[in-house]
Amino acid sequence: MPESCSNKGSPQQHAGGLSAPGYVYDPVFLEHDTGGNPENARRLEAVISDLDWKGIRQQLKAIPARPATLDELTTVHQAGYVSRVEAYCRQGGGQWDSDTMMSTGSYKAALYAAGGSIAAVEAVMNKAVPCAYALVRPPGHHATYNNALGFCIFNNIAIAANYALNTYKMERVLIIDFDVHHGNGTQEAFTHNPYVLYVSMHQYPLFPGTGFLTEMEQGSGAGTAINVPLPAGCGDNEYKLVFDEIVIPTARRFKPEIILVSAGYDAHWADELANMRLTLDGYYNMTRSIQQLADELCGGKTVFYLEGGYNLKVLCCAVNATFNIWLGENYFDDPFGLPPDNFKPQGLNEIIAEVKKRHGLY
Ligand SMILES: [Zn+2]
Repeated sequence: MPESCSNKGSPQQHAGGLSAPGYVYDPVFLEHDTGGNPENARRLEAVISDLDWKGIRQQLKAIPARPATLDELTTVHQAGYVSRVEAYCRQGGGQWDSDTMMSTGSYKAALYAAGGSIAAVEAVMNKAVPCAYALVRPPGHHATYNNALGFCIFNNIAIAANYALNTYKMERVLIIDFDVHHGNGTQEAFTHNPYVLYVSMHQYPLFPGTGFLTEMEQGSGAGTAINVPLPAGCGDNEYKLVFDEIVIPTARRFKPEIILVSAGYDAHWADELANMRLTLDGYYNMTRSIQQLADELCGGKTVFYLEGGYNLKVLCCAVNATFNIWLGENYFDDPFGLPPDNFKPQGLNEIIAEVKKRHGLY
């Protein structure tokens, strides 16, 4: 049986052994050609070459990606939407909307991203690996029932969560989303599903405009999402407070059987798509907190899914830091350090108090 991912073994103990963390990667993800879009193939190329250069990849277990089936895709998406994407890509692709590009290779890449996301859950559940990172693209958390949005085509994490529910008869899947943008597609996918709890912290207001406090409070969707809309400028201290006051008590109350994570690194201060002030140290600490929760609540079972993060160096360092935690190493590379200013965001305590009140977290 694999050891927990945050077991404090030396890296040598993990190399090639059953306890090696898993990762999903396939060159097919690079065939999603988006030209000069911020979400482009260079992101994953940089992550993989950095893992190789630092000698991390050979300590991990490769989980092969595969194309998702139509049955798997349609647990989240409309069949007609899947066909539209296929036809659009077959005809050469183009600008699907103002943000989202598709090329000839995008449909295949998106099928493998969704299937690879499932394969990561499968590997964890079959105990082939204790935890895994789906290093896939296109990303997924904005993709809705019948549309692509915000660089996303199929909602990888939502499809993987449905696979966990359907295949392993789970009743409590926790999705934590720390991408700086709200995962509107993921929230939508589980609006009427009490077996999946979606917890998102995100800059608000910001693209895609969803994720306000009062969403998901009415009707049969009530309680299936906890949104923490954060003011611009939040950094390590503010995110730690959100974890201590909301994420950790929520997870303990929900008692997940697996934790899935929409991991986006666009809340780093050097990322140009948003206005947060997280450091790599902040990402390291959040990731460690999530792994500790998984160890405490569900035998360490966790799968990370790459979402956003558009500063290539931040992205590489943050992914490395995640694997270093799993490999039992405390060291990680932070060439960026602290943000260049001392800005203090206003109103966070009030937001946290309101979220706690609305969701009964006392
Ligand atoms: Zn994002």
